[in-house]
Amino acid sequence: MKKEDCLFCKIANGEIPSTTIYENNDFRVFFDIAPASKGHALIVPKQHYNDIFDMDAETGGRLFSLATAVARALKKELKCEGMNIVQNNGLIAGQTVFHFHLHLIPRYTGDTVNIVWQPGEADQNELQALAKAVRKDL
Ligand code: AMP
Ligand code: ZN
Repeated sequence: MKKEDCLFCKIANGEIPSTTIYENNDFRVFFDIAPASKGHALIVPKQHYNDIFDMDAETGGRLFSLATAVARALKKELKCEGMNIVQNNGLIAGQTVFHFHLHLIPRYTGDTVNIVWQPGEADQNELQALAKAVRKDL
């Protein structure tokens, strides 16, 4: 399914131009228009999924399989030292384009990319209870 007035549906399906690295029947890989670092790329499905909660496991599996190949190719050509894979779901999580996309952000010594959180404290009893609750849904 495509969604009316969805920017990434239009980019994924070639109606709006992008600097495309690779495409196949199901996905398009292109450079982010406002890159966090040199080589910042996005992988988007050609079908519309709002976010991870909306995507089937099979599509997610194929998308991440492609991500492994793209990550290696970017690393080889850019000679980056590392890479962050980021995927935002929902406004609260920083998603701004509501069509699933995976960010591949190459990392270099001295870059200014900022992907951090404050480490919290875990209560073991609470974690055990939470693990049990979530496990029953898997
Ligand atoms: P997110 O905050 O995870 O939803 O990320 C959306 C990303 O899409 C941002 O990094 C934007 O720079 C990028 N973006 C928005 N419009 C375009 C576009 N026309 N071409 C390429 N990247 C885009
Ligand atoms: Zn879309």
